[in-house]
Amino acid sequence: MAFCLMKRRMAKEAGGILLRDDPDVDLHIHSNNSDGTFSPSQIVDWAKEKGLSFISITDHDGIGGLEEGARAARAAGIDFVNGIEMSTEYRGSVELHILGYGFDAENVEILRVCDIMRRSRFERNEKLLAAVRAEGFDIKDEDIPAANAGYISKPQIARAMIAKGYVKDIPEAFERVFDRPPVCLLKKKKTDALEAIRIITGAGGTAVLAHPMRIKNIGKRGTEEMYGHLERIVAELASHGMGGLECCYAQHTEEEMRCTRAIAERHGLISTRGSDFHGPGVTAD
Ligand code: AMP
Ligand code: MN
Ligand code: MN
Ligand code: MN
Repeated sequence: MAFCLMKRRMAKEAGGILLRDDPDVDLHIHSNNSDGTFSPSQIVDWAKEKGLSFISITDHDGIGGLEEGARAARAAGIDFVNGIEMSTEYRGSVELHILGYGFDAENVEILRVCDIMRRSRFERNEKLLAAVRAEGFDIKDEDIPAANAGYISKPQIARAMIAKGYVKDIPEAFERVFDRPPVCLLKKKKTDALEAIRIITGAGGTAVLAHPMRIKNIGKRGTEEMYGHLERIVAELASHGMGGLECCYAQHTEEEMRCTRAIAERHGLISTRGSDFHGPGVTAD
């Protein structure tokens, strides 16, 4: 009985289905409309093989994969909810990733914010590539494995640098190039976190804070200081209409899942489950 009550409290309707964190649910998946390697249809095949019954595709600041994903999921008998992962900034200093679910994909505000983000990424990439080249790395446009719709991110540029033998892995590319001036000064626009929640809820969706234990600059992961800081952020976002917390995240430990679920419960939020799958062998970012 207690279990049933908890389940009901931890579930919330978005797009006609309940968001939840059961093991057969994966509400955080990237397609090749952002930095994933699978097409939306391949994601559905993968989900079917894994025995998942409910998924969402949550590309970075874009919704280009939703139509194909929804169609493929319907044909495969898997529940599907529209998704997005928005890169946002909280109080101008902390980067938060906010997941949106069950929104109207034709909503003008959603389309507008995706368009602004796409343009900003494109402009940032032009400058970033020029700066990387000025540092002596001979990376041509065709060396970068561009996904659908021309989405290019730093990890993809890093892969081109690895292929050319300039760096041994992605972290080295960040340490030596992306996280140092002048390259680190070239930033893309980020949506304000409260504005992202407003846009998602205004389009009929539910906003969920992604991978809360991976938030940077709020204290060392797992410390009391970090949990305290996280809880204050969650409280404010919840008071602005956020509906959930991604407690069951693939890179959270059991202990972190327990602690974040307790935070979710204290603020009346649902808990969701997500793998942050980017394709076989691709690390989550
Ligand atoms: P972009 O969206 O092009 O600005 O690239 C940012 C992406 O790079 C984010 O999704 C990050 O998770 C990823 N990233 C940032 N820092 C690092 C790092 N030190 N090592 C690996 N990936 C990183
Ligand atoms: Mn993320
Ligand atoms: Mn993600
Ligand atoms: Mn990513």
